[in-house]
Amino acid sequence: MKSEAAQGKSRDPGLDVRLPKESCSDPKCPFHGHIKVRGQVIEGVVVSTKMQGTVVVERTLLHYVPKYERYEKRKSRYMVHSPPCLKVSEGKRVRLAETRPIAKNVSFVIVENLGDVTVHVRGEEEVKE
Ligand SMILES: [Zn+2]
Repeated sequence: MKSEAAQGKSRDPGLDVRLPKESCSDPKCPFHGHIKVRGQVIEGVVVSTKMQGTVVVERTLLHYVPKYERYEKRKSRYMVHSPPCLKVSEGKRVRLAETRPIAKNVSFVIVENLGDVTVHVRGEEEVKE
């Protein structure tokens, strides 16, 4: 595996994601290391990159409340391992895949950088139409 990473080859983690253009020598990288992914694949937004090799990803979801026939916003935070080859920064939308526990609170790894979050400003959208 180490020699493959040195040659810049990516290992396909078995997910429908774009392979990173760059290589890295992170053993916990799903493309260039030996981390295997299984389980959930979810999307979220990076809210903190202050830890080493780990980022905080927030996911918001809508939960239906039958009594009021409306949705309430719920959010959950995940500590996620961030391989250096994906170049993830705060505010980026990312796809995570579940893996074995990497640390006490980390059992997800970033598998795709989906780019900047598109902010929908209601006023601007009305102008475009
Ligand atoms: Zn990598």
